[in-house]
Amino acid sequence: MSRYLINQYQSLEAYVPGEQPQDMRYVKLNTNENPYPPSPAVIEAASREAGRLQLYSDPVCATLRDAIAGLYGVKRENVYVSNGSDDILNFAFMAFAGRGGKAYFPDISYGFYRVFGDLHGCDYRTVPLEDDFSIDPAKYHGLDGLIVIANPNAPTGMALSVDEIEGIVRTNPDHVVVIDEAYVDFGAESCVGLTAKYDNLLVVQTFSKSRSMAGARLGFAFANAGLIADLDRIKYSTNPYNVNLMTCAAGAAAIADNAYYMANCRRIEATRTDTAERLRALGFTVLPSKANFLFAKSDRVDGDTLYRELKKRGVLVRHFNTPRIRDYNRITIGTEGEMGILVSKIREILG
Ligand SMILES: *Cc1c(COP(=O)(O)O)cnc(C)c1O
Repeated sequence: MSRYLINQYQSLEAYVPGEQPQDMRYVKLNTNENPYPPSPAVIEAASREAGRLQLYSDPVCATLRDAIAGLYGVKRENVYVSNGSDDILNFAFMAFAGRGGKAYFPDISYGFYRVFGDLHGCDYRTVPLEDDFSIDPAKYHGLDGLIVIANPNAPTGMALSVDEIEGIVRTNPDHVVVIDEAYVDFGAESCVGLTAKYDNLLVVQTFSKSRSMAGARLGFAFANAGLIADLDRIKYSTNPYNVNLMTCAAGAAAIADNAYYMANCRRIEATRTDTAERLRALGFTVLPSKANFLFAKSDRVDGDTLYRELKKRGVLVRHFNTPRIRDYNRITIGTEGEMGILVSKIREILG
């Protein structure tokens, strides 16, 4: 830290992304990337646009937003796009909580929520998950601030139903409820349909996981036109071109090729079911996941040891050294082959 950093940021604990080590080729099961490549149409669209990089991108992202609106049955004015869904979550904390504003999210969830809360000086409270790591929706009824829930939740992978989410949205009419659906395409129910009925609901999704575009940085969100205009106000006060030319085109091509991505999602779900069975057979407790990862603990080896022993053997998983979950590891679902390697290395470690 330099002596110039202002007070407000000196105690800020930044988000720590999953490691991306360059020292060897790992089986990378630590950042929930999709194991399958983008579709050929997406690669073609991005390459085509590369030749026009001297131009600014379209700040309205009209083509991309129309493509998303078409697929999800809403209007362009109900769709927001941004440079990764982290960007949208950041703007949501800024716009709908802000300095001293109240915010609520689960104690065990996506680590960035705390960071955004700290960054913007929000007065946030965490709501404990139940002993089985589920979310009790009743704990979010009638609160007095912004509510942010990942559905499915991370790193547990457990999901609430649309009815349970609707109960939360309905009982908080004076506050925005953000549902972060980063993993929804892997088997959970989406709340996008509720945005037509409730003007306090913001549903956030991303191209990073189910659409194999983590490196392109593209997030999107659904809400009534008022909330979208609020997010736009912040975008146009920060960086109007926050979705670049190549990503805009790649995103529209990915939407046009939706069947390819949904087929990959079904394949990942099948691999998830198979991997969970194999881990349970080895004595693991595996939470019921609707995401592209499993959250699992061994009855024989602690979470940190398993993480380190797997890394030595060329397999990266994500370990969080925080209360309640340090016995667990979060394991991204890779290809069938990668999960075979994972299981065989775990067998070796267990002896
Ligand atoms: C990966 C993830 C995000 C961020 O996705 P980007 O669009 O890549 O910024 C947001 N929320 C959750 C819960 C995630 O796991």
